Amino acid sequence: MDGDLKKQSRAVLGSVRALLEELSEEGLERIAAPTDVADPPSPINLPAQPREAEERPPIADPAPPPSPAPVSTPGPQDLGLERSWGASPSLEEVREALGECTRCPLHEGRNKIVFGHGDPDADLMFIGEGPGENEDQQGLPFVGRAGELLTQMIEKGLGIPRSSTYICNIVKCRPPGNRDPLANEVSTCRPFLDGQIDAVKPKVIVTLGKPAASLLLGHDVAITRVRGQWHDYRGTPLMPTFHPAYVLRQYTEAVRRHVWNDLRAAFERSQQGSET
Ligand code: SF4
Repeated sequence: MDGDLKKQSRAVLGSVRALLEELSEEGLERIAAPTDVADPPSPINLPAQPREAEERPPIADPAPPPSPAPVSTPGPQDLGLERSWGASPSLEEVREALGECTRCPLHEGRNKIVFGHGDPDADLMFIGEGPGENEDQQGLPFVGRAGELLTQMIEKGLGIPRSSTYICNIVKCRPPGNRDPLANEVSTCRPFLDGQIDAVKPKVIVTLGKPAASLLLGHDVAITRVRGQWHDYRGTPLMPTFHPAYVLRQYTEAVRRHVWNDLRAAFERSQQGSET
């Protein structure tokens, strides 16, 4: 009997250890002792994920949101919802179809629609989650501190003008309080993102952060596991990497090296065949 109990205990401890290792990889910093827990039903201290570093607390996780994950399965059935354009639209056609959009509740708090910016024929397309405060004010994607870092990585790191790439987000309106966009907001706005991809026809897509990777890969992903690996989105090579805001929070050599390797791999692949 004692032997059985020991075996069961060892099995339970092994499962707990595996769970803790997985949570740690996802960014869990600590599990509070029972005395730390007052009202919250869970003792696990899950941090929220900032979209822009200057607007969010300096926490250590790329993406453990308690709010609904903005994930829906990609596929042709999703892609015709709002398409008033053909298979090869121009960005202007997609923008015109979007109009002064009020299709989801995010329009209520926005200042400006942040459609996207860059070269309509870009080889490299970056996709983030949604506009932050600076973006909402200016109507341009990635113009805060995280945007500055992205620009540096593109221009100083890859040696190409930012304007030679195309940059946009999953949702085009800033979620209130910089919360993660909800699933219905993502699914409502998603056809316009697909329209942008169809218009630009990039050679490579780079998703920035967990939500964008999860959306385009069709399931909730651990960014630490999928980054640095090649994936495919409707025939276009897709490279997930960390969000620049995460890089700002975790400004370690390892994180910077990961992102640098991801971006360089994406850029090199986007150039294959360009010089022939
Ligand atoms: S987030 Fe997208 S679907 Fe929602 S109101 Fe803005 S543009 Fe329209």
